Amino acid sequence: MQFLFALRSKGVTDARVLTAMEKTDRALFVRGLFAERAYEDMPLPIAAGQTISQPSVVGLMTQALNVQPRDKVLEVGTGSGYQAAILSHLARRVYTVDRYKRLVADARVLFEQLNLVNITAISGDGSFGLPEQAPFDRILVTAAAEDPPGPLLAQLRIGGIMVLPVGQSDTVQSLIRVTRTEEGFDYEELRPVRFVPLIEGMGD
Ligand code: SAH
Repeated sequence: MQFLFALRSKGVTDARVLTAMEKTDRALFVRGLFAERAYEDMPLPIAAGQTISQPSVVGLMTQALNVQPRDKVLEVGTGSGYQAAILSHLARRVYTVDRYKRLVADARVLFEQLNLVNITAISGDGSFGLPEQAPFDRILVTAAAEDPPGPLLAQLRIGGIMVLPVGQSDTVQSLIRVTRTEEGFDYEELRPVRFVPLIEGMGD
C-alpha cells in the first residue's frame, strides 16, 4: 500500500498501471542484500553491473507507453525482468531483449516461476530490435541512446508508440515519446531521467 501511495504521489495515476505494479513484487527481481530495499523508490544494482530502475520511473514510462490489451510490445533492456513483468499484465505479448545472456537467463526463471507465459526473453543487441517479430505496437527502451535507433523506429507500427531515454552518456538524458503517424514521427519530451547507456554488441 505504501508502495502504491509513493507511486501515486510521483504522478503514476493510471489505474491499470498501478494494478500491474501491485501484481509484480519488486523484491523478487532484486537479489541479495539489496532485496530489503526493494520497496524504496530508488534504482538498485543487479547483476552484470546494471540497475533495476526506480519504481516511479518504471510507472511513469509504462504510463507514457499507454499499452493496450491486444498490443505486442518490445522492451530493450531486460535487466532484472521487472519492467517486462509489469508489461506482461498489460499487453498481449511481450518480447524483451538484453545483451547479457545471464540477465536473460535469470529473468526467464522468474517469468516461469510467476507463470508469465506471454513474455519471450531473448539475448541479443536490442538496438537492432527484433525484425522477425516486427512491427510492434509499443516499444520501450530502458537504456539511453544518443538518438532513437533507426531499426526501432522502423519496427514501430503506424499509430505505435515508443518511449525511451535519449542523451549523451549518463549525464543529461530526457525521456521522450515517439508516435509513428502516417506521415512520419512525432516527438515529445517528457522529463529528465538517468539510465545506463545502450551499448552495441553482446555483453560478457
Ligand atoms: N528494464 C530493466 C532495467 C534495465 S537496465 C528492469 O526492469 O530491471 C538497462 C539494461 O539494458 C541492462 O540490463 C543492459 O544490459 C541493457 N542493454 C544495454 N544496451 C543494450 C542493447 N544494445 N541491447 C539490449 N540490451 C541492452
